[in-house]
Amino acid sequence: MAYRFDYKLLTAYEQAVADCQQQFLQIDHNTAKNCEKIIKVLNNNKVRETDFYGSTGYGYGDTGRDKLDQIMADIMHVDAGIMRAQFTCGTHAISSVLFGNLRPGDELIAGSGMPYDTLHYVIGTAGKESNDGSLIDFGVEFNVCDLKEDGAIDIDKLCSMIKKNTKMVALQRSRGYSWRNALSIEQIGEAIKAVKAVRSDIICFVDNCYGTFTQEIEPTDVGADIVAGSLIKNAGGGIAPTGGYIAGSKEYVRKTAARLTAPGLDSHVGATLDTNRLLYQGLYFAPIVVGEALKTSTVAARLGEILGFSVMPDYKANRNDIVQSIMFDSADKLTAFCRGVQKGSAVDSDISPEPSDMAGYESKIIMASGSFIFGSSIEISCDAPLREPYIAYMQGGLNLHYSKYAILHAFQELIDEGLLKL
Ligand SMILES: *Cc1c(COP(=O)(O)O)cnc(C)c1O
Repeated sequence: MAYRFDYKLLTAYEQAVADCQQQFLQIDHNTAKNCEKIIKVLNNNKVRETDFYGSTGYGYGDTGRDKLDQIMADIMHVDAGIMRAQFTCGTHAISSVLFGNLRPGDELIAGSGMPYDTLHYVIGTAGKESNDGSLIDFGVEFNVCDLKEDGAIDIDKLCSMIKKNTKMVALQRSRGYSWRNALSIEQIGEAIKAVKAVRSDIICFVDNCYGTFTQEIEPTDVGADIVAGSLIKNAGGGIAPTGGYIAGSKEYVRKTAARLTAPGLDSHVGATLDTNRLLYQGLYFAPIVVGEALKTSTVAARLGEILGFSVMPDYKANRNDIVQSIMFDSADKLTAFCRGVQKGSAVDSDISPEPSDMAGYESKIIMASGSFIFGSSIEISCDAPLREPYIAYMQGGLNLHYSKYAILHAFQELIDEGLLKL
């Protein structure tokens, strides 16, 4: 297949890259800081080649797995962690934290608006038939504190909502499928401080999906009791074949472990098979890959702007997640853009994504993801719920030099379909 990119599009791309140089320096600085953090933690934990062998059966005595748990705890500067392939994805890690720590009669407050789509089923707000086995079904009370107009946490309102039975406040760092920016670490810290001032025993939980390693510090450095993330996003570095992580205070992590495996077994079991080395290597590469993903988003933002689209955030932003939102106002443009991203992917580039129903999502979703790890969104990908105002959420990119082709194909597809004139 010969690449045919409009000359004006190529010129605009080069312009976008040139405009982003200051941002690239910032991103490189952040990558360096995170690499420094990780190499120290790997050294402190005396990682050995024998830690990569993995285990079978119960997985007893799997030092590689146990060290990985501790490594994640050390990176987050907390007591305990769990990092493994037995978390099937980010939703599962988050769900384990929620079910592990909430009891009937407890209240969960979503402090940054309605959580990510897949969690509606976990919480039990996705519709009557789907409530079976949800938190609400188990007698957990759920309330939402919406974000303010400008996307900031409504800290006063959040604090005023706290009641006697409020057990946990959950914050979502990344934007999810909404036209807002990711929460900054400072904002998260401020909200946690205010919540703790009302009652210090409220568990402050942060969904760190897409946020991990985008800044020099993590939500746990500003008071979060526990965090969760996915290994086919930031923390897996594009190498972990599957999995998730959590990290936090000992008690909350143990309760989560009891939910992940079984009470008493906690995090002491779990055969790692052949996953240990990949999780270590993925973590080692994660800050670098996150840096490339941030550069990809920054360039996509600038190019989108140059071509006349509304983008969130703009290219100058200090990013707290790897996601770039681009608004299209029409289903045709949105789906064309996603088709283009797929065309520029390394795998399945000849396949055309179509909007469809997906497990855990209420709207039809279009997902462009031609990745080495199936469905990985730290590799270049673009997804969107087919609903107004038709926003594409593009994320990842193992390397900007490759992501370039996904970005170019995406806008070229709009040009070819007569939906964009240069
Ligand atoms: C991706 C994501 C999730 C869910 O993670 P999966 O790995 O897709 O299950 C949850 N919260 C946020 C903010 C996410 O971006």
